[in-house]
Amino acid sequence: MMRRIFPDYAYGTGPRSNCWWDETCPAPVWPELDRAREVDVAIIGGGFTGLSTALHLAEAGVDVAVIEAETPGWGASGRNGGFCCLGGAKLGSRAMERLHGRRETQVYQAGEEEAVHLVERLIARHGIEADTHSSGETVMAHSAKAGAALRRAAQNTGADFIDGPALAANGLGGRFHGAMTTPLGFALNPRKYLFGLAAAAATAGATLYQRSPALDLWQDDSGWHARTPKGRISAKRLVIATNGYSSENIPGWLAGRYMPAQSTVMVTRPLTADEQAAQGWTSAQMAYDTRHMLHYFRLMPDGRFLFGMRGGLMSSPRAEAKIRTALRSHFDRLFPAWRGVEATHMWSGMVCLSRNLVPFVGSVPDHPGLFAGLCYHGNGVAMGSYAGRLLADLVQGKTPEAPYPDLFQRMPRFPLGRARRLLMPPAYALLGLMD
Ligand SMILES: Cc1cc2nc3c(=O)[nH]c(=O)nc-3n(C[C@H](O)[C@H](O)[C@H](O)COP(=O)(O)OP(=O)(O)OC[C@H]3O[C@@H](n4cnc5c(N)ncnc54)[C@H](O)[C@@H]3O)c2cc1C
Repeated sequence: MMRRIFPDYAYGTGPRSNCWWDETCPAPVWPELDRAREVDVAIIGGGFTGLSTALHLAEAGVDVAVIEAETPGWGASGRNGGFCCLGGAKLGSRAMERLHGRRETQVYQAGEEEAVHLVERLIARHGIEADTHSSGETVMAHSAKAGAALRRAAQNTGADFIDGPALAANGLGGRFHGAMTTPLGFALNPRKYLFGLAAAAATAGATLYQRSPALDLWQDDSGWHARTPKGRISAKRLVIATNGYSSENIPGWLAGRYMPAQSTVMVTRPLTADEQAAQGWTSAQMAYDTRHMLHYFRLMPDGRFLFGMRGGLMSSPRAEAKIRTALRSHFDRLFPAWRGVEATHMWSGMVCLSRNLVPFVGSVPDHPGLFAGLCYHGNGVAMGSYAGRLLADLVQGKTPEAPYPDLFQRMPRFPLGRARRLLMPPAYALLGLMD
């Protein structure tokens, strides 16, 4: 059995229900694994990380299979905000330089950029229709002080800055105090992108299984084996790509090393041109604000507005209802002209943090043949896809050609073991106070 650290509700249909993306395209039908199957490489988890790994391996001629516990797009990859942007670490660049040195930080940052370009290339190469929009990403100041800091940052980097009073004239009207745009990144429909990756991986020869959870995992002389309810998969090399849906025992090495955290999103009905004008938000830019507990939002090509934020710390029907009410009230505060606009869809899902605040992508220490990619700190559209590309090289025993920082290869344990979620309320309270 999978041993997970949130209440069962977090892993069920409750938080997942009413996700807008489900209505935008049908899921592909993958078979269930119903026999013992042997492949060169087995992958556990069918999100961006697992499918990108599978695609890159299959294209290299490797016999690869993915087992997904639920249905295609069930995890975070099928229910996120669709921001394909820089990010992946929660560690700031100054702290990263202090802890890991300048060179490592530069390699990490080159990887972050390459991750966005990788998604761009995958979409183009495989002809994926993913409803993309936005030129780069815009950060909105939530306070006058944050606005002044953004202005200084823009002066130092040459980025575009828009002053508070000019925001609405630039289509960025809301309760904000300035905006700065970074030229890299774009927004997409994550479900269409994910299924595009899946189709490309299948065409290249990967086998994809749904409703086939790995219930346990073990190694013997012949390699790695995972048991599923109706079958078994065996492989010389195995990749863990389960991120926020990981278990303490698959593999046991993961116990205490990852911290799932929830994020919640709402989508409105399409806004008319008049409604958009009334709020002054007509821009196609994807945006987030400067709060530590940040909001992220964008007007999608069909006129619907997507608005998300870090979710609650508890998971139950009551906690879910509470966070959805809070999300709505934050939206109303920031975009007062849209108070009466119906939010037709709202849902939540799991992201994943690590103790050292950087992703883990690499071979699992002291477990020959075992690899993992996870902990993108809520930014896995680009970084999860990129992790898949790195993992495909590593699994084949190659040194990745793409930037691969050493800091991706350590994953220290959190204190408190399975009770480590107790660390989060004080951390969130502190971040909330800082805002
Ligand atoms: C609400 C929300 C909004 C987000 N917004 C953004 C955003 O705008 N931009 C961005 O970059 N990132 C965003 N993220 C984060 C992003 O979605 C994730 O970082 C990314 O999808 C992780 O991909 P993954 O493949 O590693 O994991 P997932 O997509 O979570 O996939 C893991 C899969 O593993 C499966 N699994 C788990 N255990 C087993 C097992 N034992 N056997 C078989 N399968 C198993 C699960 O069923 C799941 O489908 C958001 C996340 C959420 C929840």
